[in-house]
Amino acid sequence: MAGAGLAQGYPARPVTMIVPFAAGGPTDVIARIVGDHMSRTMGQQVVIENVAGAGGTTGIIRGAQAAPDGYTLMMGHMGTHGAAPALYPNLKYDPAKSFDPIGLAAGTPIVIVARKDFPAADLKGFLDHLKKNSEKMNQAQAGVGSVSHSTGVLFDSVVGIKPTLVAYRGTGPALNDLMSGQVDFMTDQIVNVAPQITGGNIKAYAIATPERSPALPDVPTTKEAGLPAYEVSAWNAVFAPKGLPADVNAKLVAALRAALADETTRKRLLDLGAVIPDAKGQGPQALQTLVETEVARWTPVLKAAGAVAN
Ligand code: ASP
Repeated sequence: MAGAGLAQGYPARPVTMIVPFAAGGPTDVIARIVGDHMSRTMGQQVVIENVAGAGGTTGIIRGAQAAPDGYTLMMGHMGTHGAAPALYPNLKYDPAKSFDPIGLAAGTPIVIVARKDFPAADLKGFLDHLKKNSEKMNQAQAGVGSVSHSTGVLFDSVVGIKPTLVAYRGTGPALNDLMSGQVDFMTDQIVNVAPQITGGNIKAYAIATPERSPALPDVPTTKEAGLPAYEVSAWNAVFAPKGLPADVNAKLVAALRAALADETTRKRLLDLGAVIPDAKGQGPQALQTLVETEVARWTPVLKAAGAVAN
């Protein structure tokens, strides 16, 4: 009875959404955009809490251990819920079992970006320079298991280079250092880098998707630019700790769906290059399947890339 009473009044106070990276980065941006609309649907503020560390796993562990009452959510991603198990043998959560999946928020193509004065006009020139100066190059990433780390080590293994990896608490701060030229390059989610590419503050050499993005029509695909072996995309999704009351779960799923159906919210995401899941790709079941597929996909990829001790 107490449980039912609790759910009926839900949400009676603000809902926390943990972003497991620094403010200003891709996960934070997506969480703020969808959280904004979810707040209006639910009549309570969705408050973003940035809990960065260990490639995003610190914040997700905190969220997984929170009470499953609908007042703690997480914005996870391809790293925390796909790559992390391969890289953290003692990970304190199971991406496929420790959560109630709420739904996919956005697909995020990966873009290969460099400081704006990087001495190469195109991807071929960039790869040549990287190969010749491999050890001197600094590659930014957001910690072991993050999207920029996993897609970055995949890039390094496809290209055959061993740059120095520089870790940040998210690709928001990494992007600041890329803009000021403190690091040389990174592979990052489009929503973080698109505005700075368009503004001429960083260079984009290629987008790692089969098609160009409408948000960056001038950026060639890796296939067009000569690196067809590097195709990779990421995603962000909302999770809750496992065991939500059924009607709390249903309210959250509906609020996320409503956000993704709202024209203003869609435009904010699309302008940044995000890919909005269609109705079939939305919701808990599609996300559960995605997580299982991604964990199975990334484990051998990261082993082959030499990122994991066999
Ligand atoms: N998505 C992370 C962020 O929001 C970074 C990453 O996974 O590479 O900063």
